[in-house]
Amino acid sequence: IVTAGTKTTRATCPYCGTGCGVLIETTAGRITHVQGDPDHPANFGRLCTKGSTLHLTAATSVQEQTRLLTPQRRRARGDTPAPIGWDEALDDAADQLADIIRRHGPQAVGFYGSGQLLTEDYYVLNKLVKGLVGTNNLDTNSRLCMSSAVAGYKATLGVDAPPACYDDFKHAQTLFIVGANTAYAHPILFRRIEDARQANPAMKLIVADPRKTETAEMADLFLPIRPGTDVALFHGMLHVMLAEGLVDMDYIAQHTQGFEALRGLVADFTPASVAAICGIPQADLVQAAHWFGGHTPTLSLYCQGLNQSTRGTDKNATLINLHLATGQIGKPGAGPFSLTGQPNAMGGREVGGMANLLSAHRDLGNAEHRAEVAKLWGVPDVPAQPGKTAVEMFEAAARGEIKALWIACTNPAQSLPDQATVRKALETAELVVVQEAFATTATCAYADLLLPATTWGEKDGTVTNSERRISRVRSAIPAPGQARHDWSIFADLGRRLEQRLPERQAGWRHGMDTLFPYDSPESVWNEHRESTRGRDLDITGLSYEILETQGPQQWPMPQGHAQGRARLYEDGVFPTPDGRARFSAVPYEAVAEPCDEHHPFALNTGRLRDQWHGMSRTGTLGRLFGHVSEPSIDLNPVDMKRLGLGAGDLVRVTSRRGAVVLPAQPSDAVSPMQSFIAMHWGEEYLSGRDAQGRLMTGVNALTVPAFCPKSKQPELKNAAVGIEAV
Ligand code: SF4
Repeated sequence: IVTAGTKTTRATCPYCGTGCGVLIETTAGRITHVQGDPDHPANFGRLCTKGSTLHLTAATSVQEQTRLLTPQRRRARGDTPAPIGWDEALDDAADQLADIIRRHGPQAVGFYGSGQLLTEDYYVLNKLVKGLVGTNNLDTNSRLCMSSAVAGYKATLGVDAPPACYDDFKHAQTLFIVGANTAYAHPILFRRIEDARQANPAMKLIVADPRKTETAEMADLFLPIRPGTDVALFHGMLHVMLAEGLVDMDYIAQHTQGFEALRGLVADFTPASVAAICGIPQADLVQAAHWFGGHTPTLSLYCQGLNQSTRGTDKNATLINLHLATGQIGKPGAGPFSLTGQPNAMGGREVGGMANLLSAHRDLGNAEHRAEVAKLWGVPDVPAQPGKTAVEMFEAAARGEIKALWIACTNPAQSLPDQATVRKALETAELVVVQEAFATTATCAYADLLLPATTWGEKDGTVTNSERRISRVRSAIPAPGQARHDWSIFADLGRRLEQRLPERQAGWRHGMDTLFPYDSPESVWNEHRESTRGRDLDITGLSYEILETQGPQQWPMPQGHAQGRARLYEDGVFPTPDGRARFSAVPYEAVAEPCDEHHPFALNTGRLRDQWHGMSRTGTLGRLFGHVSEPSIDLNPVDMKRLGLGAGDLVRVTSRRGAVVLPAQPSDAVSPMQSFIAMHWGEEYLSGRDAQGRLMTGVNALTVPAFCPKSKQPELKNAAVGIEAV
């Protein structure tokens, strides 16, 4: 839309998985204003503090100070990188990758991407790594975000598909929010929850969280469970619901299997024992069960408190147990509903852009699925061996097994747990390529090659939000400097690797000159769309044109359908071999790192309201520091007093992996012997050292690399730490 010299472009916010629509105003080729898109069904015109200041983060002065605008190369680690041309940079990268692959095999390279890549970027990267290079060593920071939700859905419902939608907020009678501070992490969804509660005063809000967050402050019933005790809580609620006839035996009989094993398991989870494990009053546990099973429909919302755990998959699956046992799924206002952390973690899952996934929700472990994908791509096969997941990939690089790391649109030198190992990996790898929009991230300092990528306001493509809704992302301004789109960088690299690895090309193609014949994001998306035909997420009825004329759509939307599906499993049929959902009868197990006399505090991590991830974008705006201006560790006032601390006093926080020094602040939100540090602060604000004196960034100097054995998602939400005044 162009009016009086001002152009308005529809796009989406690049921050959280709510997926709000934005209208970007540009004048003379510059982004001058942003407002919420009143026609976007995720936000109907609303934006939170982060979304409404996007235009300020795109200001020229900010861009000049923060953006990576030309390809650059370091001749030696520690040198200042020198600008080079794109052809030279990509030829150099392809030469070095091909050399490493020839010398050590394809398993010696690893690609690490981001839930902020667009679906088209993800698709080309996935094909490049699994189809051409011949390894599944492709993982993304979505491993830190939603992989437990994926594994939980697949274990119980058959596929990775959130069954509910945002419209369900207003139909629910009970909202159960677990391990999610929705007020901060998904602010516009929280506004919709507030609206729903106002319209329906009878609605009950239960919040279970170790911290009394801003979300918990609003609850009718707050369950301040001990860290990591979620599975016990869910088993205890089911125990009560069984005892009091609040389960739906008809639904169980008709649509599920495995209930008897679960019934036997939860018999031991009496209210008294669960109250003791979780540290909550028995009466509150019983009340939660009564509302969940009796004050229906019931909708559960959950996020990293369940996912970022060594029991992440079990936590997800045992919450879904409650919905299956009560029949609270597949109808308005009911269902388990994972809230996606990042803007396009869903799109990445759809194209299979992770170490254990394949295109269109196919499984790497399934030979038929691998053959289908190989046929679609025109390659002889897709490797069967699962790739290294995020933590595993960097541990392998630290051991010298992975020789080349290609990192796109993410900052592992800040965001991965156990920074000491991550930094060692980046130092040890023969080749580190960083494909980034921002020159200021900690990971850039380790790059041999830096490739400038476009970012929000400059990119074209699609994203999928938490409710399976696909939206178009559109460029409002041209790429700055020499920055290029991620899909195009991957495609160019792919074409160069085809020339350098001719032995990997023979007989691979269906009469094509290249596996990467794309000339636009739409041409990539159309290939992705075809890969979904007949799958649970079938979008063969959708096109860029429909997204243009009819706006964002939810999958599935198969050919011949006029619109997508708001809710899944309304007929009670699940995408499993027998059409029945599976109960998950798993035991409760405690956190990976229990506290001891040297590390007596449990450390929790999480988001602030006005910052995003490693702050490469939000950290450029002074006004976004108005809410919280500096890092701190929140401690209960009782512990502050016992340690002789006043507000703002510096403390040294030490885990088994490293230490940081930062101010302590009293907070009633944190229970005694627990603590909280926000995840965002990078090395300008919060740094530490490991035992060898290696510099580390932020709270992940302290966190645990242990991960869920099923989802491989690390336990970023709990580490044992010692705290002492300095
Ligand atoms: Fe952006 Fe999320 Fe805020 Fe919406 S709620 S404006 S998607 S950060």
